Amino acid sequence: MPVLNHKMQNYIQKNNPTLIIFSLLIVSTCAMSYEYFLGAMSSYLLGDGRIQWALTITAMMVSMGFGGYSSRYVKSHEKMVVINELAIAFAGGFSTLFLYAFNVYIGSAQVVTLGYISINGFILGFQVPLFMHILRKAGESFGDLVARVTLFDFLGAVPAVILYIYLVKGVGLVQGTMLLGLINVSVVLLGIKLFEPELSTRFRRVAKILVVAIVLLLLLGLTFGERAVMGLERQLYNDRIVYQEQSDFQRIILTKRGEDLRLFLNGNIQFSSLDEYRYHEALVHPAMDLAANREKVLILGGGDGLALREVFKYPEVKEVTLVDLDPAVVGLARTHPVITRLNRGSLDDPRVQIVNQDGYKFLEQGSGLYGVIIVDLPDPNNEALAKLYTREFYTMVRRHLAKGGAVAIQSTSPYYANEAFWSIVNTVEAAGLDVAPYHTYVPSFGEWGFTLASDTAINKSRIKVEVSTRYLKQDMLPGMFVFPGDESESTNEAVNTLIHPVIIDLYQQAWENW
Ligand code: SAM
Repeated sequence: MPVLNHKMQNYIQKNNPTLIIFSLLIVSTCAMSYEYFLGAMSSYLLGDGRIQWALTITAMMVSMGFGGYSSRYVKSHEKMVVINELAIAFAGGFSTLFLYAFNVYIGSAQVVTLGYISINGFILGFQVPLFMHILRKAGESFGDLVARVTLFDFLGAVPAVILYIYLVKGVGLVQGTMLLGLINVSVVLLGIKLFEPELSTRFRRVAKILVVAIVLLLLLGLTFGERAVMGLERQLYNDRIVYQEQSDFQRIILTKRGEDLRLFLNGNIQFSSLDEYRYHEALVHPAMDLAANREKVLILGGGDGLALREVFKYPEVKEVTLVDLDPAVVGLARTHPVITRLNRGSLDDPRVQIVNQDGYKFLEQGSGLYGVIIVDLPDPNNEALAKLYTREFYTMVRRHLAKGGAVAIQSTSPYYANEAFWSIVNTVEAAGLDVAPYHTYVPSFGEWGFTLASDTAINKSRIKVEVSTRYLKQDMLPGMFVFPGDESESTNEAVNTLIHPVIIDLYQQAWENW
């Protein structure tokens, strides 16, 4: 067995194995948690969480293996543990800010993201054998030390996920890793203390200076992190940002240029104040007119209150249930002076019941029947949203539809995302509803598509516009149901299901080209 000097061996045997294991637990907790943050950040920046999480885990495992292997070249394990912990506190603490800034200034790069994740994994993998060597020198038997190190290294995953969940909800992705960095750097001080006999005075002094420097940088990052993110975000939008908020569910941004106020959720436009009436009139009126009874209306999504404004043009409407996941969007739409002017205060109408819940869960748990169901949700660009475009979802929509009821679904662009659009239409049909897809032009969105559906056969020629509108005219309706050659269905697009969510790829591949 390698022998340490007597002073250190005694010191370690008396006090330290537990403390050494404790510091391993903290480091592995932080490293695991960084990986969760990086997985979330890469999903946010690069899209398709299904792929990004798998790539994150793979990059991490492979680089951990290389890290572990490289530890064989280390001479002073104690010194390397301290250096390693300093590196992970710095690299991990600033990881999400770095990736975000890189994405804004240079562009979204899968390779850079994976590279960063790999550095993290390498450091973590490197750490574990170092701790084993140190415990071995402290007199632990091989069996004991392998058992303890493995147990506590993997146990780190539990506090890691708890920290991740609380930090991501509490302070967001960027400041979350900075707080982890602070926890991480405190372990360096413990390491310097524990391995004092093995570290030169000069090394300890430099390490302490680096600890102070990293703490200061992280505190600076925490103080100005939100402002830095806002500054970076400004680069992503063409117009001036007048409101930004990270809700529990999404990043909410309002931009303004002259009279044009635009709402973005997670970077995707939801409406422009200049032409939103085109979209909402087209979405709401065909279904309202088609329905046998419109006393009870359900809106899934639509937290901006704009579809609701159109629904209230029908005096027969007695009650509307609006199910929007995010109270922050609804809160904004109820209080922002420009949005309340646009939606005419519809969200405060006594006939509305607002439910802040996931639309899928609402349909699953509820039992109400509605004459009209309006589905005004963001485009299916990730798996959480893709679930709201599945056959299973539309089957539940059908079950909540009163006899002779009508459904209107915003269905993305038949021009820019042609295959995704037709997949939505086919999916609604596969849920047992008759469908009548249609389209219109919304300048801020481009060519836009909708799916009208019903439990009974749809007679398009009988649909009328019987309320006052700025855009939609009776004469336009027949043309809206006719698709130009380059917007028609070219192949028979697949049905989107929970088990096979084809829509994500169809959607992402399509928009990548524009
Ligand atoms: N017109 C828009 C478009 O073209 O994408 C949709 C607008 S509307 C503002 C979308 C709303 O759907 C948002 O308020 C968002 O909070 C809500 N939403 C997102 N996911 C949801 C879910 N799972 N259940 C219910 N509402 C959801």
